[in-house]
Amino acid sequence: MIDIVKKSDCSGCYSCVNICPKECINIEVDDEGFGYPVINNEECKKCNLCEKACPVINDPKAEKIETIAYACRNKNEDIRKRSSSGGVFTLLCEEVIKKGGIVFGAAFDENYEVKHIGAETIGECEKLRGSKYVQSKIGNTYKQAKDFLNNGRLVLFSGTQCQIKGLKLFLNKSYDNLITSEIICHGVPSPKIFKLYKENLKNKYNSNIKDIRFRDKALGWNKFSYVTEFENNKIYSKTLHEDIYMKGFLHDLYLRPSCYECKAKNFTSNSDISLADYWGIEKKHSEFDDDKGISLVLVNTEKGKEIFEKISCGMEVIKSDIGYAISNNPCIVRPVKYNKKREKFFKEVEGKNLEHSIMKYTKTTLGKRVKDKIQSSLGKLRER
Ligand SMILES: Cc1cc2nc3c(=O)[nH]c(=O)nc-3n(C[C@H](O)[C@H](O)[C@H](O)COP(=O)(O)OP(=O)(O)OC[C@H]3O[C@@H](n4cnc5c(N)ncnc54)[C@H](O)[C@@H]3O)c2cc1C
Repeated sequence: MIDIVKKSDCSGCYSCVNICPKECINIEVDDEGFGYPVINNEECKKCNLCEKACPVINDPKAEKIETIAYACRNKNEDIRKRSSSGGVFTLLCEEVIKKGGIVFGAAFDENYEVKHIGAETIGECEKLRGSKYVQSKIGNTYKQAKDFLNNGRLVLFSGTQCQIKGLKLFLNKSYDNLITSEIICHGVPSPKIFKLYKENLKNKYNSNIKDIRFRDKALGWNKFSYVTEFENNKIYSKTLHEDIYMKGFLHDLYLRPSCYECKAKNFTSNSDISLADYWGIEKKHSEFDDDKGISLVLVNTEKGKEIFEKISCGMEVIKSDIGYAISNNPCIVRPVKYNKKREKFFKEVEGKNLEHSIMKYTKTTLGKRVKDKIQSSLGKLRER
């Protein structure tokens, strides 16, 4: 039976909830807004399946080949513009839907909360497009995916590294008709903080929300903006460095505790494909970088290779260097450092103004700014 001694022992993937044959595990949300499993001890038959399916404790059986890295961009400029990176995820969706399959991924619901859903048409897949920087609720989608797999349907399941690892352990066998695509993730922010942030914006604009885009590329991919559109047609738009929610997220101020000790890094999820932003592209393949978004695609298994070849005609591709890609995107292999101000932030945010608390705990000291400047100058000297 799972026993969560400390919060970082649970990534909130719902694998235990999905696998429990007695359906006696429920998710309860804590003060920080993250969900944790709670077992009904009277119903529990001590079968231990929940423990076996936990991605923090176990690794799925490896099917990995040597990872190959590619820089890719979708040939369809409109789709690339509306995607977070190079729009490769949409190509995967198109391939699977064309074959009568179903795609699982993260979408906004009517309250702009993020949940995993299954999409069976290209139109429905649009809801999955774009990064939503808040933890997505898996719900019972692992079970749904298993039913489709057992009925012979092709399934593409997309999620963070821990969500794919959780799925693989939940299924506990390999399916020829399953394709997994993990997104490289530096951590998932608290749904509670996102809710507070949305409420603040709604009050300021005196209107309900009709659209949210975390990665609007109107000013470019490197300097992307967070955008909220309101029903009264007003628009809030700020760049990643100006927007308060993005600022706290990029300072790793309100990530899930398990993210700082993530056990799903370094390809342990056994995902067929990993998708990320190709940060550092301007130095490696400068001719390819147009500031409209380049995906880093990591092909990890034979099945990943197969689907990558199939979607290749829809994108421009350059074979790249995995070592270079990792050095510019370390979250592929290791978790981010714990932000020591996190605890104080969560204590304070209860009674205080959100904006004030995020500003207070993301302020960089003069000493830190000088250190960063020296490190960056040294880096530039080394590159010469
Ligand atoms: C919380 C989070 C942190 C990330 N951190 C990094 C990082 O540090 N470095 C990096 O290179 N890339 C990171 N990414 C991934 C990156 O932003 C793109 O999602 C990825 O490159 C795919 O882009 P795309 O253009 O191919 O397709 P898009 O259409 O932009 O991809 C959307 C995909 O992301 C999934 N998705 C969206 N939101 C969530 C969510 N909350 N939980 C689970 N899945 C979600 C959708 O289901 C879909 O599969 C992060 C994404 C998220 C959601």
